[in-house]
Amino acid sequence: MHEGAVGMYVCGPTVYSNVHLGNCRTFISFDMVFRYLKHLGYKVRYVRNITDVGHMEDDVDDGEDKIAKKARLEKLEPMEIVQQYSVDFHQIMELFNTLPPSIEPTATGHIIEQIETIRQILDNGFAYEASGSVYFDVVKFNESHEYGKLSGRKLEDMIANTRDLSGQDEKKNPQDFALWKKAEPQHIMRWPSPWGDGFPGWHLECTSMSTKYLGTRFDIHGGGMDLKFPHHECEIAQNEACTGKSPVNYWMHANMLTLNGKKMAKSTGNNILPRELFSGNNDKLSKGFSPSVARFFMMQAHYRSILDFSDDAIIAAEKGYNRLMEGLDNLSGMKASNASTLDIAAWKQLCYDAMNDDFNTPILVAHLFEGVRYINLLKEGKETLSAGDLESFSKAMDAFVFDILGLKRESEAAAGSNDKLEGVMNMLIGMRNEARANKDFALSDQIRNRLTELGIELKDSKEGTTFTIN
Ligand code: AMP
Ligand code: ZN
Repeated sequence: MHEGAVGMYVCGPTVYSNVHLGNCRTFISFDMVFRYLKHLGYKVRYVRNITDVGHMEDDVDDGEDKIAKKARLEKLEPMEIVQQYSVDFHQIMELFNTLPPSIEPTATGHIIEQIETIRQILDNGFAYEASGSVYFDVVKFNESHEYGKLSGRKLEDMIANTRDLSGQDEKKNPQDFALWKKAEPQHIMRWPSPWGDGFPGWHLECTSMSTKYLGTRFDIHGGGMDLKFPHHECEIAQNEACTGKSPVNYWMHANMLTLNGKKMAKSTGNNILPRELFSGNNDKLSKGFSPSVARFFMMQAHYRSILDFSDDAIIAAEKGYNRLMEGLDNLSGMKASNASTLDIAAWKQLCYDAMNDDFNTPILVAHLFEGVRYINLLKEGKETLSAGDLESFSKAMDAFVFDILGLKRESEAAAGSNDKLEGVMNMLIGMRNEARANKDFALSDQIRNRLTELGIELKDSKEGTTFTIN
């Protein structure tokens, strides 16, 4: 990449179910990274993909495609599943105040690129075809490269620890992974290829799409810690098999959000969904918490540390968040003095030092609370700030809290959604009035009844129509 520009690729969701809070932690962590790099003035191209084909159950090559399975169970088209959960993902990301990535490519939108990547790997001798599927030859690759270097594994140990699958598998070695899978006749998600109808392997999309949008070598590759092996290890192997060089300058992995000490996961049911958190509608929660409180809870831990979620922990985070917001409210009305008794430049530097040390948000948060202590001292008249220092302090507090940590004032967030609801309700009431004026009572009744079903009651009076939410 060019001077002053950063290329960042983050593995996105597999859109076969609603994202849980654990998934959100990873995406919120990289949103913070994206925000901080932009704050520093870098021109960041942030690519976060959508996996809409090829991710098999249990991450094994012979399982069923997660999206195809969901489509089968729900009797829907796979693309209906993809659409439903992509929309949900985007809504949740917006509620958490994450910035949209610069490019959000889908695996199904890049089949041609993936076929081309396979062709290159085959040409370079690191893959083989078997009955309409193509597999990456890990053993062959490891002769000239190092498979497992990211996760610190040795291929010999992996081989020693696997059962002998000979005779049961078309792969040469159990460690080999699918680049292209032949589609059985009943398989819906299929594309033509030089090897017959099939679909791409899960690891392939990230190699093809990161190369396409960020080049053969880029700055940052992120994802959750559970993707380090095998997903990222396989990505490295694919890239190296194509170009002969390692694709990434810095690998970053967000650690797991746990619940009761166990990883939050879709498959085990050990998870909390964001909407359950916001509404409090989950028996693990005593009440609802705002997206900003959840974000603050996450930012209080370093992205590389495991973070355990509990009702008590998020209640404590809410107290901290409120204290921070109260401090900022007090700061906005503050009067300047002739001279400063606090060293704002030194405090600011500590905030930057924390972020420059591998995005150490918990240390930053500690400095922000030190900032709140300053605000209280200023309020009590025990310390003073000059106009210049006061402005610099306010700007820095705002930048760190809102632009970099991505928090929002709760009152602002609530006011925003109430305004929108008012607007939508006034529109519906207007449409109902028009229907009644046109004697279209079927439509006017339909509007009222549908709203009642949603728990919104319309009340007509001489002054007009009002609504109440039950
Ligand atoms: P998936 O949709 O399963 O591909 O996961 C999307 C992202 O969420 C990946 O980067 C995963 O590593 C990440 N992830 C999954 N579970 C957790 C968790 N409990 N905590 C943090 N990140 C997670
Ligand atoms: Zn990926």
